[in-house]
Parts: sequence; structure tokens; C-alpha cells
Amino acid sequence: MQIGFIGLGIMGKPMVRNLLKAGHELHVYDIEQKYVSEMEAAGAVPEISSAAIAAKCRLIITMLPNSEHVKAAVMGKDGILEQAQPGTILVDMSSIAPLASKEICEACEKKEVRMIDAPVSGGEPKAVDGTLSIMAGGDEAVFEEVYDILSVLGSSAVHCGAIGAGNTTKLANQIIVALNIAAVSEAFMLSTKAGVEPEKVFDAIKGGLAGSTVMNAKIPMILDGNFEPGFKIDLHIKDLRNAINTGNAQGAFLPLTTQVMEILQTLHADGLGDSDHSAIVRFYEKVTGTEIRK
Ligand code: NAD
Repeated sequence: MQIGFIGLGIMGKPMVRNLLKAGHELHVYDIEQKYVSEMEAAGAVPEISSAAIAAKCRLIITMLPNSEHVKAAVMGKDGILEQAQPGTILVDMSSIAPLASKEICEACEKKEVRMIDAPVSGGEPKAVDGTLSIMAGGDEAVFEEVYDILSVLGSSAVHCGAIGAGNTTKLANQIIVALNIAAVSEAFMLSTKAGVEPEKVFDAIKGGLAGSTVMNAKIPMILDGNFEPGFKIDLHIKDLRNAINTGNAQGAFLPLTTQVMEILQTLHADGLGDSDHSAIVRFYEKVTGTEIRK
């Protein structure tokens, strides 16, 4: 099948590779030409704009940083809606504000383009393995139509509700991940300060109730002092900002999210915006003057 793919960053590139491996013809675009060339070398067809992709492809996937980038690629100059044929399906897999998904979907409907939001969890390793968790919102019939394609990219794809429901679910996911990394950092700082080796603490508790996928992924990175992204601090700031704005709009109460947002913004101010979000531990390390390492 001919598939358009826009946004060839940390996540987009391995997703394109998996779709190519599954035998699809990929037409790709990114504002960074070097990423387009990289994917051309991997077997994709390079395109010069989102509109050029829309002129050729009836299924288009976007994997972009935030709401404004998706709006630009869909509704902006040289965007998808300038060239899209009626009946085209847009699967936006970026993590953006749920209200932005609704706004983009409304613009799509005017051009008879059908859209679902389908953000993912799992990060780069699962994008590479094709085992992402996909959470979707929008018309269930459209979700069913693209289910086989989503199955190439993820090991699970769940339809969560109307348009925006995928991104609402993703915000819930991002709150849990950020708070979990902060909890792990805080707990390991306590045990380190009290003189217990972090590897022993990890071994002792990972199989119990405190164990988590987040702890299993992030403690080895922290112990190695490896803060290569992965998932960048700045992207997590974006997600928590979307969560806090959505919380305000919906009357939800997010006191812990707000606290962790302050930590993330402090790290950004310290120049760590491009570090992996496991660098939340660096906030605790800076305040105490103690590192949690092997
Ligand atoms: P990234 O910054 O590595 O890649 C985004 C790409 O989009 C960049 O290559 C950029 O040049 C391109 N881009 C920006 N605006 C564009 C436009 N108008 N047209 C074409 N290309 C444009 O980001 P990423 O880590 O790949 O994340 C993408 C999305 O996936 C984000 O919403 C992120 O929150 C989400 N996500 C990321 C991870 C992760 O671990 N990295 C995990 C789950 C979800």
C-alpha cells in the first residue's frame, strides 16, 4: 500500500523502516532534508512537502512534536489539506493536545479527509521493534480500516473513544511516567543517602509492588549516568503542559503533575532539555550534591 509519512525524527524513522519491511511503499517528508535523505537510502520515496505527499497518498501518517507542528503540516501552507483527495485517511500519531486534534479533525472534515488521533507509548526501542502501544480516538470505522497498518507499528492498538480520546489517554500515560520517574529518583536518593547500594535496592524491589516498566527502563540508565534521549525532557514538558491545560479546561486536579512540571522546567533551565527524561534524577542530584551511580 502507498503510505505518506510526515515527521522523521526519533520515532518516525524506525516506524517508516517497519512499514517498508512490511512491504509498503512509503512517501516521506520532514522539514529536515537530512532525515528525508536517510529514509530515501532506506528505500522510501522522498517528497518535497506535506502537500506533495497528499497528492499521491490516500493514507497519511504524521509523527510530529506538538499541536502547532501538526496544524502546520495539515492546515498550513503546502500542507496536506491543500492537495488531499476526498476520502483520504490521516492518522496523527503525534502526542498533541486533545483539543487540537478536534480542531484539526474539523478542518479535515471540510475537505472530506477522515482523521483519527493515534499517539503511542513505548519510546524509541519499541518503535524499532514495532511493539508500540497505540491509543486511538475518532471514528471507529476508520480505526478498523487502518488497524492492520497500526499492527505493523505496535503490539496493541486500542480505540479509546471520539477524536481526541487517544491524546487524552496519552496525557494520562505521560503523567504516570513522569511521576513514576520522579518517585524512583526520590526513593533511590533516600536509599543512596542512607548508604544502601542502588543496585541492591533495584534487585530487591523490582519484582514487588513498587516495580514498574519505567523503573526497569530508567534505573539502568541512571546507574550508568546515560541520559541520551530516548524521550527528551523538553517533549515531556510539552506533554505535561498539554495535561495541565487540559486539566484546567476539564476541571481536573493535578497537584503532583504541577510539581514534576516545576522539576522539568528547572532541568530545562539548566540546559538539559535535550536529555532523556530519566535526567529528572539530576534535579535530586543537584539539590543534594549526591549522584546515584554504580
Ligand atoms: P523528534 O523531535 O525526534 O521528531 C520530530 C520530527 O518532526 C523532526 O524530525 C522535525 O524536523 C519534524 N517536523 C517538525 N515540524 C514539521 C513539519 N511541519 N513538517 C514536517 N516535519 C516536521 O520527535 P520524536 O521523539 O520522534 O517524537 C514525535 C512525537 O512522538 C512527539 O509528539 C512525541 O511526544 C511522541 N513520542 C515520542 C516518544 C519518544 O520516546 N521519543 C515516545 C512516545 C511518543
